[in-house]
Parts: sequence; structure tokens; C-alpha cells
Amino acid sequence: MKAMRLTQFGDVSNFALHDIPAPELRPGTVLIDVKASSVNPVDYKIRQNGPGFANPLPAALGLDVAGTIRAIAPDVTGFAIGDAVYGCAGGIAGETGTNAEIMRADAKLIAPMPANLSFREAAALPLVSITALEALERLGVTAGTRLLVIGGTGGVGHIAVQLAAARGAIVDSTASTLEKSKLAKSFGAREVISYRSETIAEGAARLTQGEGYDCVLDATGGSDIASAFAATRLNGQVATIVSHYSADLAPMHVKGLSLHVIFMLIPLIHNRGRERHGAWLRDLKTLVETRQVKPLLDPQRFALADLAAAHAHLESGKAIGKVVVDIA
Ligand code: NDP
Repeated sequence: MKAMRLTQFGDVSNFALHDIPAPELRPGTVLIDVKASSVNPVDYKIRQNGPGFANPLPAALGLDVAGTIRAIAPDVTGFAIGDAVYGCAGGIAGETGTNAEIMRADAKLIAPMPANLSFREAAALPLVSITALEALERLGVTAGTRLLVIGGTGGVGHIAVQLAAARGAIVDSTASTLEKSKLAKSFGAREVISYRSETIAEGAARLTQGEGYDCVLDATGGSDIASAFAATRLNGQVATIVSHYSADLAPMHVKGLSLHVIFMLIPLIHNRGRERHGAWLRDLKTLVETRQVKPLLDPQRFALADLAAAHAHLESGKAIGKVVVDIA
């Protein structure tokens, strides 16, 4: 099979297309004919050998997958050959990456794909949706919760806004531009803080009559956690989706505010976390099929051979919507 492998850590020139043997089934796994994958910031952080991302090389990277089942281990039930599935299953705890024509996935981490999505759309969803759900669960977002999503048009943020709105929460978002403001509203945001014309704290005070939000989700990767705290009411909840723990976060845990630091990859390494994440993808299928959640895809298209360009596009910060790679 063809696989785009990373041979050395560093810039995108370290990717090369290789012909390698397809992975073999192991107990508890399925093989997937990969149709599409999406690029997440974690992929370029692994490529750069960033802090907290140990990954043996050479390896095909990529976590998100949409494709069809090619083979099933004898101990796996609930799937049939040819089923269309999606999941955040690549490269975790020894499994193979999704930047390849065939991957081996833990059956607990995949679910039947929403029937109304293309493979490209389905591949955009798993990692960002699981992260958004993890945050909303920990924050306890329910009907009537006043929630601010900082970065509500990004990969995680745009799904968090939609999922929170589907729960009946009152969701506001931040955005850098007018175009992104409109996007946030199209996802279900009530109001938008244009953080280039007012600070997030000022916007939060304006939109909550000085009280602050019940909950704030920093979906930017911890770039401005101080603003998240400033926007939250006394005894409110803050969640951040940092990709590795930073000591800078600890002093922020003040004023009776609770801070939930979310590391999506850690629960995935444990079996219970895997089952929960698979179950969430099954629930998400229903939310997508009932039109409560829809992924936004960046208009640029990339094939497996263009993986380097796909990484560069996401890293440039210019993508609007998820960067998807067509694998086959
Ligand atoms: P994206 O690049 O798609 O989105 C990030 C968003 O943050 C952008 O839309 C941008 O919107 C906004 N943003 C950036 N800087 C600021 C700022 N200073 N103030 C306000 N908004 C800002 O990335 P993802 O959503 O895929 O991931 C976001 C981060 O979260 C990454 O660092 C990623 O590694 C991490 N992550 C962590 C996970 C975990 O499990 N802990 C899982 C998934 C992601 P705008 O143009 O409006 O500024």
C-alpha cells in the first residue's frame, strides 16, 4: 500500500510517499480502507517533535479517519466488511496512522459514519468533536448555560458551538474577522466578541451585563487563558484544550473558578476512555443526521501525495474550516 511516512522530525520536507506492506490485524482491531483523513494541529506538533509527543519514526501520522472496513479480527463484533466508519483512531498506542491507504484501528475507537456525510466531511469530525464533547461534559453545559467559546470558528470551536447550541445552551463566540463572526453565528452563536476591536474581557462584560459567563471554553489551545478567566463569573468553570501541560496554568486557578485542562489523547490510551469516545461518535452520528452538527471544510483539496502542503496550509493559520486529505 501507499503511505506518506515521516522519516525525520522537522519541517514538511520530511514526508515521503512509500510503498509498504499493509498492517496486519491484531485482536480487537479492524483494517480500514482509508478514504479521507483530516489534519489537526496535533499532527504538525508530532511532526515537529513538540513537547509531549513522543512518536517512533519512520511512521505514517494522522489520527482522523473515514473509510470502509476491509478486515475484522475474530473477536470484534458489530461491524461488517464494507461498512463506512469514522473515528479518531490513528497512531494511538501502537496502532497505525491514517495517512496511508490501509490502517489498523482499535474497534472501540470507530463508529458507523453519519449517512448524510461524504467521507471527506466525516473525516473532519472525530478528533475535534471528541475534544469538544469532553470539554462540554466536564464543564457541565446544559440547557440555559451561558457559555463563551474562545475560538468558536476553529476546528474544535465550531463543533463545540454547535454541540452546545444543540443542548440548549446560550453560546457566544469570539472571532477575529467579520467573515468569521458570520460563521460563528451560522453555527448557532448568539453574539460574537470581535477580539480585535474589544478585549475578550470587555466583550464578556458587555454581553453578560458585567456578570461573566457560567462557563468558558478556551478552544484556541491555551493561547490566552487569562482572558478565559477574566470572562468567567465567580465560581464559574473554565476548560482549555492545551496540547501539553504548562506550569503557567496553575496560578490561574483562582477566584473560586474551576479549571479543566483537557488532554484528549490521555483518555484514549486507557480502555474506558476508548469505549466512551467510540460511544460519543455513535451519538454524534445522530446529531449529524438530524442536522444539528455539520463540519466546516476548508475549500482547498489535498491528495495523499500533497500531505506536506496540507500541513503547511493548517500551520499557516489561513485555513477556514478543517483541512481534509483525500487518501483514496
Ligand atoms: P484551529 O487552528 O482550527 O482553531 C484555532 C482557533 O483559535 C482559530 O479559529 C482562531 O480563530 C482562534 N484563535 C487563535 N488565537 C486566538 C487568540 N489569541 N484569541 C482568540 N482566538 C484565537 O485549531 P483546532 O481547533 O484544531 O485546535 C486548537 C488548539 O487546540 C491547537 O493548539 C490544538 O493542538 C489544541 N487541541 C488540543 C486537543 C486536546 O485534546 N487537548 C485536541 C484538539 C486540539 P480566529 O481567526 O478568530 O483568531
